[in-house]
Amino acid sequence: MNVLVINCGSSSLKYQLFNMEDESVLAKGLVERIGIEGSRLKHEVEGKDKKTIEVAMKDHKDALAQVLDAIVHPEHGAIASLQEINAVGHRVVHAGEKYSASVIVDKSVMAALEECIELAPLHNPPNIIGISAIEELLPGVKNVAVFDTAFHQTMPASAYVYALPYEYYEKDHVRRYGFHGTSHRYVSQRTAELLGKPLSETKIITCHLGNGASLAAIDGGKSVDTSMGFTPLEGLVMGTRCGDIDPQIVTYVMGKENITLEQMNDIMNKKSGVLGISGVSSDFRDVEDAAAAGNERAILALDIYHSNVRKYIAAYAAVLGGVDAIVFTAGLGENGVESREEICKNLEFMGAVLDPVKNKVRGKEAFVNTDDSKVKIMVVPTNEELTIARDTLELVK
Ligand code: AMP
Repeated sequence: MNVLVINCGSSSLKYQLFNMEDESVLAKGLVERIGIEGSRLKHEVEGKDKKTIEVAMKDHKDALAQVLDAIVHPEHGAIASLQEINAVGHRVVHAGEKYSASVIVDKSVMAALEECIELAPLHNPPNIIGISAIEELLPGVKNVAVFDTAFHQTMPASAYVYALPYEYYEKDHVRRYGFHGTSHRYVSQRTAELLGKPLSETKIITCHLGNGASLAAIDGGKSVDTSMGFTPLEGLVMGTRCGDIDPQIVTYVMGKENITLEQMNDIMNKKSGVLGISGVSSDFRDVEDAAAAGNERAILALDIYHSNVRKYIAAYAAVLGGVDAIVFTAGLGENGVESREEICKNLEFMGAVLDPVKNKVRGKEAFVNTDDSKVKIMVVPTNEELTIARDTLELVK
């Protein structure tokens, strides 16, 4: 059984084709600049030369048609015909309160996704377009939607209701939803396996530290709190997002600087975070280089970032009432040796002691705590695509 996994962004699209017999990746790739001049497809098949196809792609349907062509291409393809694609799994960002698990797409699911556009105006539209395009290009093949928000639907109301007049929750659906759910789910499940414990008996803090970043407190396999909120702007300081700030700052800065709502949104989402503080970059590698060269704002940005993650870890230890493992994942979590070391400083009081030698590891599963650390500290590379493929297989088989 072959499952194609699609992740549509506003002008890009990532895909992986899995053979679910052994969960191997038959083909994978990325389309960039959809609808913009210079669109291109980078396609990779195990054992063959990588291929870059530069061709105009005016929308996601065009892009997906190119992807399917590449997958069955006689030279650089992975399978002989489209009939060998048995199901398609789609990453969908927002399902509101409607779905707490992945679902097979039908008309009612599409209607629910349309309703959620107002909650995720940048993310849900390309996700919906991707599903519609596959329905046209691969008629009769089942589509499965896997939601970023679904995993966090187990949070109690005490974690998801904001201290605003309650009517905004009831009327306007303003609440904490949480994101990166597919990643937090995969990483917590894998962590339980690596700990050799039933998931139901574990207390895990997962730290997804990438360009976007969020923590989750996971009790017995269920998300009980997470740092992203109504939108992916809340919580940790991120590459370009401000995370938690005093909400009064928004109206104050807008008045002082005479800027519009749209500009303020742009500032908080795209010009803040590590980029905003350092003035150097949103990429941690650049900021770390600048800090090493003595750039004081880069040093400050990293200090703020590390102490922010540390605070959330300690808060979630209290939420969980104990911790078996603190787990790092995503770009910085998997590769940021110094960041992990800095974040874990001062956590010794709660029995979490990092081993600086074991911590010198990048991009692979590892325990990085000392032998006598009560709390395990781990690196577990995330695999959202495989999780989507597994959910898809489970639902369609
Ligand atoms: P992601 O969103 O998971 O792809 O993570 C992207 C971020 O991970 C980049 O912006 C980098 O800041 C960070 N990152 C990736 N590799 C490294 C590395 N070797 N050292 C430090 N940070 C890294």
